[in-house]
Amino acid sequence: ITTFMTCNTQHAESNKVSLNVKDVSEKVDFLLGKMTIKEKIGQMNQYNGFWDATGPVPDGGDAEEKYEHLKNGLVGSMLSVRGVEAVRAVQKIVVEESRLGIPLIIGFDVIHGYKTLSPIPLAEAASWDLKAIEKSAQVAAAEASASGINWTFAPMVDISRDPRWGRVMEGAGEDPFLGSKIAVARVKGFQGDDLSAVNTIAACAKHFAAYGFSEAGKEYNTVDIGRSTLHNIVLPPFKAAVDADVKTLMNAFNELDGVPATGNAYLQRDILKGKWGFKGFVVSDWASIKELVVWGYAKGNKDAAKMAVLAGSDMDMESHIYIAELEGLVKEGVVDETIIDDAVRRILTVKYELGLFEDPYKYCNEAREKEVINCQKHHDAVLDVAKKSIVLLKNENKLLPLKKKGQNIALIGALANEKNSPLGSWRIASKDSTGVSVLEGMQNYKGNNLVYKKGADVSVGETRFINEIKINTTDRSEFKEAIEEAKKADVVVMVLGEHGFQSGEARSRTEIDLSKIQQELLEEVYKVNKKIVLVLNNGRPLTINWADEHVPAIVEAWQLGTQAGNAIAQVLYGDYNPSGKLPMTFPRNIGQIPIYYNYKNTGRPTSDKENPNLVFWSHYSDVESTPLYPFGHGLSYTTFAYENLSLNKKVFHVNEDVIISVDVKNTGDLYGKEVVQLYIRDLVASTTRPVKELKGFELIELEAGASKTVVFKLDKDALGFYDNNGTFTIEAGDFEIFVGGSSYTDLNTSFEIKE
Ligand code: BGC
Repeated sequence: ITTFMTCNTQHAESNKVSLNVKDVSEKVDFLLGKMTIKEKIGQMNQYNGFWDATGPVPDGGDAEEKYEHLKNGLVGSMLSVRGVEAVRAVQKIVVEESRLGIPLIIGFDVIHGYKTLSPIPLAEAASWDLKAIEKSAQVAAAEASASGINWTFAPMVDISRDPRWGRVMEGAGEDPFLGSKIAVARVKGFQGDDLSAVNTIAACAKHFAAYGFSEAGKEYNTVDIGRSTLHNIVLPPFKAAVDADVKTLMNAFNELDGVPATGNAYLQRDILKGKWGFKGFVVSDWASIKELVVWGYAKGNKDAAKMAVLAGSDMDMESHIYIAELEGLVKEGVVDETIIDDAVRRILTVKYELGLFEDPYKYCNEAREKEVINCQKHHDAVLDVAKKSIVLLKNENKLLPLKKKGQNIALIGALANEKNSPLGSWRIASKDSTGVSVLEGMQNYKGNNLVYKKGADVSVGETRFINEIKINTTDRSEFKEAIEEAKKADVVVMVLGEHGFQSGEARSRTEIDLSKIQQELLEEVYKVNKKIVLVLNNGRPLTINWADEHVPAIVEAWQLGTQAGNAIAQVLYGDYNPSGKLPMTFPRNIGQIPIYYNYKNTGRPTSDKENPNLVFWSHYSDVESTPLYPFGHGLSYTTFAYENLSLNKKVFHVNEDVIISVDVKNTGDLYGKEVVQLYIRDLVASTTRPVKELKGFELIELEAGASKTVVFKLDKDALGFYDNNGTFTIEAGDFEIFVGGSSYTDLNTSFEIKE
């Protein structure tokens, strides 16, 4: 057995004991037995980094207090400490100066990479490629862990149906089935098989729960959803992450049914730690314990501490409230010490599992940092997932792929020449880094005559986080030269959309179009040359109705990270045949939001085409009910045909698996990949069920002309649902099945389930 706290020879008492205890729970209990109540509460206290390589830096003036608390063993974790030297410095304080020398767990928002950046998470979700997504999380873990970090606040597994919400860029889109699979892939990628390995880190499924349902997509807003949506849509990805052994969860800024998530015992105690048996710990969101007071839910800080801890929030991120209030509450008998013990036990367990007690500096390794960060292997991995994340939305007359030789190509748009924006939001460790621009990526293809003109800036409104971007909504002075080049070009490639800082936390928007100036530029160029390939750069679905009606080819290229421009160029030139599918519905206009594929039927569900004269049915009178592009949509440079959808039987008993097979044929003349999607509908149930629910998908590759039989198995988990009490049930009755290359599927059939 390895010695206990070998790094801290001053603490002979601890060293001696470790020789006698074997498993983690014994070690934790033993250590717990040594701790004062203050030290226990200290483990539940997390501070923001105030340290860089040169020493403490001012952070709201409380650096001194934090330093004192570190020395006295009153801090269990720090977040956003930057770089190996800084991590080593803070770790050294607790290890060498505090009484018990319990190492810190070092958290960081490693959301889509640390230094080598992957596509934003929403983009990666569009790959539907679980292996590539897992690999991308592995790369992030390898780089972050080389910089002293051992815990990431990712994955965000919040389902959202509202592209106005800026944080949709950070999740996996609108669907709980796809979202659950991706949650598991990311947890596995970060944590690996062995958490104590030096290149794996603890993951954190966030934000528990329902943050993605903030009303009207307004950041931090009220959430008011019913229990059916909570259990069937919101919670499944969290449950999947817990089943995949995610070590931590973060609670959320929102309230649910009048109870803020941080003080929500139903979510954290009854469901998470009760029903699901979660053994890890829950960290609050940033100062969300303090916010219980602002909500008008707690009377003051003390009350907030009580509510949060009783509700199951184990660690206080930057409220400074647990450390100030919990001891008093325990002494007064308001909070039982067993509740504190339970929280501390959970935190210490993760620290043991990370191997921090064996060597608190194990993640601090400059040599590894130099070797791993930005290495070629990582660039290859993020390029691979970036290509796979691109979705071909439209491609009339095979305008794409571009020819590799002899063409005049005009590349237009400020985003085409952007090296920072493609990195997207949430990249704290690489705020000022650069990636490959579209212009650079396209310049690697030398056979064409490529001319670049900006045309117009990406115009952005002023918001709290993005004042560093040039705000310019009206300057048309560079239109003219862009239009001149467009006139001469065989093909025009326009890169338009959002700047990378326009989505992310606190970046909700009520207009999600291309922005006035970019739209005008697009329309002006269209007047002189209709052969336009529109490449979208964005962190959320956009409303691009005009573009869809006019522009022949549209490529959804999101914000693809460090290798963005190379990935886009490879797709435009056909060196990678696009295979991405939308993880979120594209609305026709803002008024349709929320619009999503797994909606519920109504009592008046007729569609406009079937009965154009009917007035009193569920619809808008000024826009079609359908989305612009549905969930699951995405084209290829080849085509696929679906046929022979069949079931092993027509009638099944409740416990039987339903086996479905379908033949998919590549009917075009190029090798390609297709995401074969399977949806079900439960026709009659004790609570109404969605018109379609994704229950299976498979990413296949086919040579031109080749076919493949894809087999799906639907088991109990796929056929049942949660009732309004959160109990999983399977009900007998009729089901429909749909299979195809999007949620607007090609084939369908039906079966029955009998008691
Ligand atoms: C966000 C979290 C994040 C935390 C720490 C909060 O504002 O909601 O997702 O992990 O800050 O940076």
